[in-house]
Amino acid sequence: MTFTSTTAVDLAAGIAAGDFSAREVTTAFLDRIAETDGELNAFLAVDTPGALATADAVDAARAAGEPLGPLAGVPVAVKDVITTEGLATTCGSRILEGWVPPYDATVTANLRRAGAVIIGKTNMDEFAMGSSTENSAFGPARNPWDTNLIPGGSSGGSAVAVAARQSPLSIGTDTGGSIRQPAAMTGVVGVKPTYGGVSRYGLVALASSLDQAGPFATTVADAAALHAVMAGHDPKDSTSIDAPVPPVVAAAANGDVTGMRIGVVKQLTGEGFQREVREHFQKSLDLLAAAGAEIVEVSCPHFEYALAAYYLILPSECSSNLAKFDAIRYGLRVGDDGERSVEQVMAMTREAGFGPEVKRRIMLGTYALSSGYYDAYYGQAQKVRTLIARDFAQAFEVADVLATPTAPTTAFPIGEKVDDPLSMYLQDIATIPANLAGVPGMSLPVGLDDKGLPVGLQFMAPAMADDRLYTTGAALEAAVGWEARP
Ligand code: GLN
Repeated sequence: MTFTSTTAVDLAAGIAAGDFSAREVTTAFLDRIAETDGELNAFLAVDTPGALATADAVDAARAAGEPLGPLAGVPVAVKDVITTEGLATTCGSRILEGWVPPYDATVTANLRRAGAVIIGKTNMDEFAMGSSTENSAFGPARNPWDTNLIPGGSSGGSAVAVAARQSPLSIGTDTGGSIRQPAAMTGVVGVKPTYGGVSRYGLVALASSLDQAGPFATTVADAAALHAVMAGHDPKDSTSIDAPVPPVVAAAANGDVTGMRIGVVKQLTGEGFQREVREHFQKSLDLLAAAGAEIVEVSCPHFEYALAAYYLILPSECSSNLAKFDAIRYGLRVGDDGERSVEQVMAMTREAGFGPEVKRRIMLGTYALSSGYYDAYYGQAQKVRTLIARDFAQAFEVADVLATPTAPTTAFPIGEKVDDPLSMYLQDIATIPANLAGVPGMSLPVGLDDKGLPVGLQFMAPAMADDRLYTTGAALEAAVGWEARP
């Protein structure tokens, strides 16, 4: 059996049935990482001893007849912005170099409880700012479809880990598109759950009102299995929703879209999207219609302002969240020679520890929040946010799920957009509205462009109706019959 081409659901079932051991599975993926990661750079840390210890514990529990968790023995790679007790967490930044978190994020704890094997920490744009993983302080991750290309970002390492089958599952975070866009660039399934559906406790904050962790997987059913394990109410996160987890696993197993109304967002289908992206989007709609769905057009007029509002709200929140990296409490400290003042040491540490994109956003956010400008920028952006949420509410009156292309283009060459922040920001034109409104979104692969690179399609659903993403996702996955591999 080739473990590295088996779904997570089948791996879990095989381990539970005793067809093979968790150690065999874990070893196969560790070997695959060792073989491929020199080139791909998807991992910032591989926890070989920890992974093998967990695998052995699963095998021992099974031998003793103890009940196993739903992901017992299945490797999961975790984005390096989520804390893992005893395992370094860098957020892709020099400023956290050497910091080993003394606690697990709730998501990490949930994985451990489910028996999952945490195989390592994945590469990312520094503090999750970016769409290409080129802003990592530890070098870019590379797209397994063509290693000259970016894998998307900011959760690029997590996307690559799954696309290159270095891990059957991984976790990313999505503040403006950082799960869905890299999923699209690498031909895998990626889901941003409803805001508040997955605990943010232990997720190092970029923009607290937008951040959400979610799954990457090769199939919709695998994504659902991981989603179900990650999600759930957490008293340690004040924005966590106290309600049952939407029935995502059942929805993924069903995939019946008969009579479902799928709304095509008129504002997100036009000229700004690469030709093949538009073509595959249209083909996918035809497949959904053939499967019994009703395709309707919806208008979301304020989506046009989403990017502008996001780039005020996000820098504002991140300039405040990143103030805690002060050279005293975590990681790096530069220039502390006993002579310099605390302020000088802080300034030198932040100058040396943060990369250019992080500095750009701290400056933008500090400006937007400064007195005299607060209402004009931050206040105005919050009003736009309300209008976008209203657009969604109106659209969901006539549609059960919305559909758009995930990203305007397929993967682009490393280096192409590094000097052009605006064109990088535009990668998230279709994904940012969901974050601003707190609604869930999924990207799944639906075709290849003329160069043979994956194209993604996005579904969005009302808050806490994440299961609808999995229903339409499963239907489209079956209709597309995606089999392409890098
Ligand atoms: N690319 C977007 C940004 O740079 C989204 C980032 C994210 O979702 N973490 O802000």
